[in-house]
Amino acid sequence: MDIAFTDEDLAFRDEVRAFLDEKLNPRLREGSAQTPSVFTEPDITREWQAILNEKGWLATSWPKEDGGPGWSVVQKYLFEKECAIAGAPSVPILGLKLVGPVICRFGTPAQKAHFLPRILSGEDYWCQGYSEPGSGSDLASLKTRAERVGDKYIVNGSKIWTTHAHHANWIFALVRTNPEAKKQEGISFLLIPMEQPGVTVNPIMTMANDHEVNATFFDNAESDASNLIGEEGQGWTIAKFLLENERGGGCAAPGLLAQLDRIEDYARAEPSGVNGPMIHDAGFAQRLARLRLEAQAFEVTELRILAEMIKGRPAGPQTSLVKLVSSNLRQSIQMLSVDLFGYEGLQLPTARPLYGNMAPEPIGSNEAQVAMPTYLNGRAYTIFGGSDEVQKTIIAKQVLGL
Ligand SMILES: Cc1cc2nc3c(=O)[nH]c(=O)nc-3n(C[C@H](O)[C@H](O)[C@H](O)COP(=O)(O)OP(=O)(O)OC[C@H]3O[C@@H](n4cnc5c(N)ncnc54)[C@H](O)[C@@H]3O)c2cc1C
Repeated sequence: MDIAFTDEDLAFRDEVRAFLDEKLNPRLREGSAQTPSVFTEPDITREWQAILNEKGWLATSWPKEDGGPGWSVVQKYLFEKECAIAGAPSVPILGLKLVGPVICRFGTPAQKAHFLPRILSGEDYWCQGYSEPGSGSDLASLKTRAERVGDKYIVNGSKIWTTHAHHANWIFALVRTNPEAKKQEGISFLLIPMEQPGVTVNPIMTMANDHEVNATFFDNAESDASNLIGEEGQGWTIAKFLLENERGGGCAAPGLLAQLDRIEDYARAEPSGVNGPMIHDAGFAQRLARLRLEAQAFEVTELRILAEMIKGRPAGPQTSLVKLVSSNLRQSIQMLSVDLFGYEGLQLPTARPLYGNMAPEPIGSNEAQVAMPTYLNGRAYTIFGGSDEVQKTIIAKQVLGL
């Protein structure tokens, strides 16, 4: 494996660093650091999205002809790495990183011309309608029905855990268009407008008191037949393409290592109550060192996948390995962060947001205040995008060939 970066790559990395230095204003940095949820709220992401869009650096995984920056896989990796280290907010990934690449790959010229610019501008905000009550890991059993009537689809059923559906004006959904066909073959990928009487969104509050996910109901909701992506029955193929993007193949390790650096900085200042600062507590220091080694080993795995992608091989099912390891590491790091702050790390403010003038007063520091909500919210990492058990089965079958 050759993971040495070229002079051009390093020059690009420096350009990204200079850009982030200039454009990440204190509000964006605070919004990102003080968000316990997986997704940053739209007031923060929209501002960051506009800055990236103006620079042409927004849709990093789209082909150049569709509005992407035309970067190599190494440039994409370096950009994500620098954003993670700098603590940049996330962008609205449901549009930019999930449905966007699907439209680029499977959409008609008319669908591309209509939807892609609106994703870039932020005019459209997307949510994902895959899971249903009873159809999560066993996604192919989904029941939401879309029936073709003239030039429309009429949709009935429900989706659950729809992240940010309360902000979205479009949902990309897996729907059953042919109940007679074999499970996977009867599924299609349909884009459905949210702002219509047939669509209802009910909040589901998480245990950290974040409003992030929802239950979404379709009661004779309508979508133009022109909003079908690909052919009827092609939904499962498209769903698998999207899930591989969702599970990464990307760049999680640098962000985890940066988090460990921040924890170490605080541990040098935070009193342990017995033995000076927390970093002098042998148990804490050992946990920190162990997690750093695991994150470094994980970074090598990500770089190995990157090296293969440079040679033109797709990341494929190895993305499950990345999803599995990064989720578990992230949860362990979140637990360490809670422990670092002692009783201050146990506070659970229920008001949101935790940034800006309306944020509640922290007990101790802002970092201590966000530790517990982040830990609680982070329990979902090993569930969404496919649970640990499901990833392990994919790895056993498709990576290890067992
Ligand atoms: C915070 C959050 C956000 C989400 N956002 C979205 C979203 O925006 N859109 C969307 O469509 N979905 C979303 N999801 C749903 C997510 O993808 C599902 O929760 C996930 O696929 C698991 O499905 P389930 O919840 O139905 O659990 P189940 O499938 O019922 O699984 C329950 C348990 O059984 C285990 N299990 C199931 N099948 C097997 C098997 N074959 N072998 C071994 N063990 C098994 C699982 O690992 C799990 O531990 C989100 C979930 C969360 C928690």
